Amino acid sequence: MSTPVGIAVLGSTGSIGDSTLDVVARHPDRFKIVALGARRDHEKLLAQCLKFQPECAALVEPEAARELEHALRQAGSKTRVLAGEAALDEIAAMPSAPFVMAGIVGAAGLSSSLAAARAGKRLMIANKEPLVMAGPMLIEAAREGRATLLPIDSEHNAIFQCWPSGAETGRAPKGVRRILLTASGGPFVDWSAEQIAAATPEQACRHPRWVMGRKISVDSATLMNKGLEVIEARMLFGLPLEQVEVVVHRQSLVHSLVEYVDGSMLAQLGSPDMRTPIAHALAWPDRIDSGVQFLDLARAGVLQFEPPDTGRFPCLALARQAAAAGGLAPAILNAANEVAVAAFLEGHLNFSGIPTVIDSVMNAVPAGEAKDLESVLAADTAARGAALRRIAEGRHAPRGH
Ligand code: MG
Repeated sequence: MSTPVGIAVLGSTGSIGDSTLDVVARHPDRFKIVALGARRDHEKLLAQCLKFQPECAALVEPEAARELEHALRQAGSKTRVLAGEAALDEIAAMPSAPFVMAGIVGAAGLSSSLAAARAGKRLMIANKEPLVMAGPMLIEAAREGRATLLPIDSEHNAIFQCWPSGAETGRAPKGVRRILLTASGGPFVDWSAEQIAAATPEQACRHPRWVMGRKISVDSATLMNKGLEVIEARMLFGLPLEQVEVVVHRQSLVHSLVEYVDGSMLAQLGSPDMRTPIAHALAWPDRIDSGVQFLDLARAGVLQFEPPDTGRFPCLALARQAAAAGGLAPAILNAANEVAVAAFLEGHLNFSGIPTVIDSVMNAVPAGEAKDLESVLAADTAARGAALRRIAEGRHAPRGH
């Protein structure tokens, strides 16, 4: 009997955390939760701590951490509580957790992912920020720390499954012609440009295939989610931008494809459930049960593929523009998008204002070289400020956007 591998789950109270803990609970002989980290949801983290009894639990917000500490002591738990942003870096680098699931969104996710890479972990990347904001830096840190990067985003995990084994992260092997990222098209795939312009937050959050948080649901409706995934894919797989394509596939059963120079096209299919990529990354190179419903192809019916329409969905073109510029441009794009989406969800910006704001921020904030974490975070701050000013100007203008 081998001993179970220790796992740290960053972002354990989010949907990636739920799915990860679900898969881990099916395999107590293989995996053990040694650390859980989240931003502020101390009640949910408490329940997870009592169930999995990790060595450590971390919360970014100090007040929430105090609440957790108090409740754990009352329950007689031995789990140690850490607080603050740096606590996530600490649990990401814990020697007793060789596996790290990175599911924290935002800048805190960036720093903890870099810490896990430097510490030589099996880093399972479920958040977009590390690769979008600081892709070359993360890949370099992983190379130096001898970490293994495994993608959890369903499209990138699909590509990884169709990729030649043994390929180095960030370097495309010979024989790959292109990769095709599939996109569901989002809830507005058949809407006219006029209808899309007037879309409400409620309509944007109604995703046809995947159950997701509100921010990523809006990203899926604008196709910015796919744009960010183009940037991620370039970083992970090391292909030039023109060899990373997007194809709309409404059924969300083919999760992405790789085309080889001999004309072969390999695809990964499955039910749209994040437990498949999570189980794949946890067990890799083995395969384990994930609890996912198996796909019945005869009942799935017709699979459709069509080109994306960047006219109605300009965010996809903006993301490709940022990818082509490189350096700090993807970090600026990402920050402007976060601010614009938050303003849209709060009713301060029209749906069609999202790409307008991002475009103006990309023109206003200079995108230099991404030298280190500080330069990336400075560009992030500058872009957020520019986006907030642009949105405020729009609100005060007589006709809005
Ligand atoms: Mg995805």
